[in-house]
Amino acid sequence: MRFQTAPLKGILRCGHCGTAMMPMYTVRNKKKYLYYTCHRHARSQAERSECPIGHLAAGMVEEMVFRNVRAALALPEIVASVSRLTGLTPTDVAQELGDRVWDGIGNGERQRLLASIVKEAVVHEDKIEITLNTAGFAPLIQEV
Ligand SMILES: [Zn+2]
Repeated sequence: MRFQTAPLKGILRCGHCGTAMMPMYTVRNKKKYLYYTCHRHARSQAERSECPIGHLAAGMVEEMVFRNVRAALALPEIVASVSRLTGLTPTDVAQELGDRVWDGIGNGERQRLLASIVKEAVVHEDKIEITLNTAGFAPLIQEV
């Protein structure tokens, strides 16, 4: 089976346990289901019961983070900050990171792009807190 890159590897963290959430998959009826699981949750049955986060369907959480990052990149102050960070002009940033770019690239590219913009995404029971690599901005909060 072809290895699929997980765009949120190294970015997603369990807000309850403080550990990284690792990409994993199960195969059911010859169909592959990708998800991110709390490291502690994956370790043992005993620890599993202590983590209310557990695991999340990859598609759902990836879409959520993408949507928030894309929305943030529409804000002039975020564009200005990414511009300072990358040395690109604000116009180039808007173009480079526009919707068309996100839709037209593969998971590997997405992962590199996301890793350069997102510092971390912390999953809580009721929300996901996304921190960008741009200094001075409050985390984006996504209710789940
Ligand atoms: Zn956990």
